[in-house]
Amino acid sequence: MAMNSSMAGVRGMRTLARVRIEGIKGCVNVGVLAQAPLAQTRRRGVALGLDRGWAGRSQRRFQSTAGPWASGGAPDFAFAFDIDGVLLHESKPIPGASDVLRYLEHHKIPFILLTNGGGKREQDRVEDLSRKLGVPLTTDNFVQSHTPFRQLVDGPEGLRDKTVMVTGSDYGKCREIARSYGFPNVVTPSDILSDQPSIFPFRPISELNLNPHPLPTPAYTGESSLVPLASSLKIDAMFVFDDPRDWAVDTQIIMDLLLSHSGHLGTYSTLNNDPSLLNCGWQQDGQPTLYFSNGDMLWAANYHLPRFGQGAFQASLAGVWRRYTGGHELMRKVIGKPETETYAFAERVLNAYRHERLRETGAHGVSGLRAVYMVGDNPDSDIAGANGFRSEVGTEWVSVLVKTGVWSEKRQGMGMLKGVKEPKVILADVKAAVKWACGKHGLEWKAVN
Ligand SMILES: [Mg+2]
Repeated sequence: MAMNSSMAGVRGMRTLARVRIEGIKGCVNVGVLAQAPLAQTRRRGVALGLDRGWAGRSQRRFQSTAGPWASGGAPDFAFAFDIDGVLLHESKPIPGASDVLRYLEHHKIPFILLTNGGGKREQDRVEDLSRKLGVPLTTDNFVQSHTPFRQLVDGPEGLRDKTVMVTGSDYGKCREIARSYGFPNVVTPSDILSDQPSIFPFRPISELNLNPHPLPTPAYTGESSLVPLASSLKIDAMFVFDDPRDWAVDTQIIMDLLLSHSGHLGTYSTLNNDPSLLNCGWQQDGQPTLYFSNGDMLWAANYHLPRFGQGAFQASLAGVWRRYTGGHELMRKVIGKPETETYAFAERVLNAYRHERLRETGAHGVSGLRAVYMVGDNPDSDIAGANGFRSEVGTEWVSVLVKTGVWSEKRQGMGMLKGVKEPKVILADVKAAVKWACGKHGLEWKAVN
């Protein structure tokens, strides 16, 4: 399939987890994102950019333990926490959230923060979280929606030498994040609009996105173009980092590139709409792969009803594509919860983090994790993802739904909690969740100062 040939995988790494690709003409195709084996992931503490938070490792060491594994062993369970609606609500700590993190630290129980949020560099987000929760945190155990994109930089098919376009809530921040991951050539829709104002013949884009940079190479401008096609601006991948603001501009430019010849801006593929070709020639001419960092349609904001997120933009773009192509499905790759790719990535980060902590504390004879408790407020992402994930190392992911976030029994009812969205247990909040899970492992709750 042409889509697979253009995927930016990393050859030479084991291809383990599978990621859903919205696919060709009514089908859901399954593609594979290359992933690093665990040992490689550990070494990639630097390569993955798992840089330190403000607290630093020295402050992050575990204190002496009072747990049942005090004799040099280690707990065989861990936690994965969603952030918004679990640890924070409207940027304020949910009661008990800070106590829970201190308790887990004290008892050497590892955890990972796994959020579909994004739009900031990992280090900036962790510093902000540390301040809000009053608990030192690091990026070592932190995964936000776009963190797995950094896997696509290196390897024989990596994007290190390519040009990518990024979009999201703030083009400048998206550029900064992409560069922090190692993408050297990053273009935003604002850069393109500044260079080619007639590409979007309507009112200017929002204030957030008014800081264009020069294009790395000139764009092709048609038959009278001063720059030859072969050396014109070529976009090799497109990334949606978080919720876009300027949907109209983004839609126009992403569509232009999806319809282009090999990602050359200003061209139109001659393969488009050729019924003799696979998928009628749509997205069959080396166009850039389109990545979304999460598929969340809704999120809990300050307004009393949930608000549209990145998933709504994705649905809108897919609708435009379907209408333009006469009913063909937009091929794109979606990560973030509940996608398997993100859970597999998070599990590798969690295991690497746990391994490092155990090494520091001199634990010995320790087996792998038996269970990870995914504590979340969203049945569509947190719960469905944990339920649907099959660990490559045999760890059971247990879904725990809390009542402090987007899901409401009153508004949505128990009816939606069916199939893959049915949690193992529903509890009041994160503190109740940790008490419940630790109790299953013989550890009683006692507040830690
Ligand atoms: Mg949430």
